[in-house]
Amino acid sequence: MPALDRDLIAAIATAPGQGGIGIVRLSGPDARRVASEICTAELKARVVQFTRFFAATEGESVDELVEGAQLIDEGLVLYFPAPRSFTGEEVVELQGHGGPMVMRRLLDAVCAKGARIARPGEFSERAFHNGKLDLVQAEAVADLIASTSQAAASAAINSLTGKFSDAINELSREVEGLRVMLEAAIDFPEEDVEILQDAQVNARIAALQTAVAHAVQTSRQGALLAQGITIALVGEPNVGKSSLLNALSGEETAIVTDVAGTTRDLLKVDLVLEGLPVRLVDTAGLREARDVVEEIGVERAKAQAQVADIVLWVNDASALPDGRLIEPTGLVDTEALKQAISVVNKVDLVDVDAATLQTPARTPVYLVSAKTGVGLAALREGILQRAGFSPNQAPFTARARHVEALEGVARCLDEAGAGLAAGAAVELVAESLRHAHDRLGEIVGTVTADDLLGKIFAEFCIGK
Ligand code: GDP
Repeated sequence: MPALDRDLIAAIATAPGQGGIGIVRLSGPDARRVASEICTAELKARVVQFTRFFAATEGESVDELVEGAQLIDEGLVLYFPAPRSFTGEEVVELQGHGGPMVMRRLLDAVCAKGARIARPGEFSERAFHNGKLDLVQAEAVADLIASTSQAAASAAINSLTGKFSDAINELSREVEGLRVMLEAAIDFPEEDVEILQDAQVNARIAALQTAVAHAVQTSRQGALLAQGITIALVGEPNVGKSSLLNALSGEETAIVTDVAGTTRDLLKVDLVLEGLPVRLVDTAGLREARDVVEEIGVERAKAQAQVADIVLWVNDASALPDGRLIEPTGLVDTEALKQAISVVNKVDLVDVDAATLQTPARTPVYLVSAKTGVGLAALREGILQRAGFSPNQAPFTARARHVEALEGVARCLDEAGAGLAAGAAVELVAESLRHAHDRLGEIVGTVTADDLLGKIFAEFCIGK
């Protein structure tokens, strides 16, 4: 690990904007000294104290300023001596009124005394390096703050309090136990077969495979919950994309008109489907553009269809040529249709028989009416199914990197199991288990490359 910065960092820890309270957080060995230089209160460990905050320049003491014009605010100060703090370092929280100018002046005041503005995620990074949180928990802090559904928030707090880490650590201990057995077998080659049999290595690997498969499954659900999905509504003009966006979100968000080409740009709405955060993106109708603005809209629509997790390919039931869904080929890349759902809208106008419909790229078809609401419940369910999300199956939040690592663990265990069954050298089986062990360590951060750590924490906001 690189030498950790030990200097004093500061940041506004509360959300930008106006609020009743705003907090500037300081962390580092000099936190107490710097805070004392701008606060009138005498800082006591873990005691909430009323104080006045002053802007003091280098060399000035707060006592000299009390009567001066440099009063910034009054509020509360909290001092947490190391190591019993969020970061494990000396931490001071300056709580003032939550106005942007007050916060800015408080931050300037501590910076004038020697603090530097923290990088994104630097508080959490220090907490990780000081053993206050493992990597999964540090990521869960960010997930909890960013969560947009109740299910995501409650799963994130479970990760933060260690439920996911505990599951990973338990798997890790079991792999470690097996590795000890295999090392013993390597040390005593004469008795290796008996050692492995006595330790029931086969059965234990099989049990681990089942447990890891379960962990892969729950972490996939957890990652979906934490990250949410994006759905693009794509189709020709006037098929009812905007109406569908409104009907699914339950709000009048999109402008609905019968003039073709009304939605020229992307319109995004966030909603929650059974706990899964969903971003619905309405796009310009795909047709030959009549002007430059529409052309840009159509291009953006196509691009959105490529990057969305799911494409809702919308057709107008009253305008289906010979009972066929309009082929999107040529308009959107068929690649994008791999995760598509065909929606036949306006079934209130005509009867449509789903069985006789020809669907492009064998996408599932849902018959709906944005106007009457018919079929929308089934469509919502279809979306969850297509996303692979099972409500209530995500006990904790996870990240794509956790899922990948666990899939790697599963592959290593498969190798180990197959090696044992085929009578491979014990050394090879031991090597597979070592890899499995490392990949589990990667998840919680006991074995992690520095560049990965940098990437993880850089995604955090400043002040976390
Ligand atoms: P977009 O261009 O694909 O976004 O289509 P809009 O949502 O703007 O709808 C085009 C027209 O179709 C409007 O006049 C809507 O009122 C109408 N429309 C949309 N959905 C339905 C529906 O389910 N049934 C009926 N009868 N009309 C609909």
